[in-house]
Amino acid sequence: MSIYWSEILKGIDPYVPGEQPGDKKYIKLNTNENPYPPSPRVLEKIREVADEKLRLYPDPECEDLREALAEYHKLDKSQVYAGNGSDELLAFTFLAFFNPTGLPILFPDITYSFYPVYSNLFKIKYRQIPLDGSFNVPAEQFYAENGGIIIPNPNAPTGKYLPVHSIGEILRRNTQSVVVVDEAYIDFGGESAVKYIGEHPNLLVVRTLSKSHSLAGMRVGYALGHKELIEGIARIKNSVNSYTLDRIALAAAVEAIKDTAYFQETRRKIINTRERVSSQLKNMGFDVVDSMANFIFVAHPCVPACEIFRQLRERGILVRHFKKPRIDNYLRVSVGSDDEMFCFLKEIGRIVGF
Ligand SMILES: *Cc1c(COP(=O)(O)O)cnc(C)c1O
Repeated sequence: MSIYWSEILKGIDPYVPGEQPGDKKYIKLNTNENPYPPSPRVLEKIREVADEKLRLYPDPECEDLREALAEYHKLDKSQVYAGNGSDELLAFTFLAFFNPTGLPILFPDITYSFYPVYSNLFKIKYRQIPLDGSFNVPAEQFYAENGGIIIPNPNAPTGKYLPVHSIGEILRRNTQSVVVVDEAYIDFGGESAVKYIGEHPNLLVVRTLSKSHSLAGMRVGYALGHKELIEGIARIKNSVNSYTLDRIALAAAVEAIKDTAYFQETRRKIINTRERVSSQLKNMGFDVVDSMANFIFVAHPCVPACEIFRQLRERGILVRHFKKPRIDNYLRVSVGSDDEMFCFLKEIGRIVGF
């Protein structure tokens, strides 16, 4: 800790992303990246736009991308915002709609670890709602008075999906604060809460192209909601950085949204692989949490997660282990390609003596 650090800096505890090692070639099942490349149309577009125009600033309003997203979601462009990855949009969302004083915001106790990080950074009080013994989000617990709600659906790192009508019920009982649904993984089988946007002006749905559109390296996220919420995020963005999305990312994202055939094909493959790998792990004796995401959350009754983690790493396979109460015996395993999962299953089978 340096004497030059601000009081805010001294008080925070930053998020730690999954590792991106450069030392050797790993099978990377640790950061929920998509194992398939971006659509060929996206790569073609990137080559096309990497030209002399890069001397010019990009469109601060992201008009073309918002237009494409509005069309895709059957919303008005004024109900769409685009940002530099959904993490940044989530940070703007916390600043825009959650207050440092007054009632605490609510989110699950086991959830995306960035939520407590943003809360601490922006001095927002929060109350964590415990998941039940099977890692279900107890929707009724969110009917309490609050300064805001944020729920990932499906949840991370469990992969558990809360039926969308439960989100609808939370919205019906909560009209005084903003309800954020983080749909980073919704394309892998769940039903979106976007359909409630018309009726509920306090609903914000946040999404990303990182997982289901194979563009984690491009950093594109977006938010959908009533135009007053969208305007709120714009006011924060324009108080930090007018150009959060570069020209290349904007063009690539438009193409990714438009190539629905490629998107459907890759997401279908990931869902099929997830289901097959889940049942094989169950056969080996693993507890496998029902997942609607592009990862699975697993524990073995005899071999501790930290031991499996270590041995997989030695064999060149990276997964994620969270040393946190209630989940420290679980591993989060991203769904890779069929070849990657073949190696993973072979090695993990050896480790647990199957
Ligand atoms: C991956 C993830 C994000 C962040 O996505 P980016 O767009 O890559 O910043 C947000 N929320 C959840 C729950 C995630 O798992």
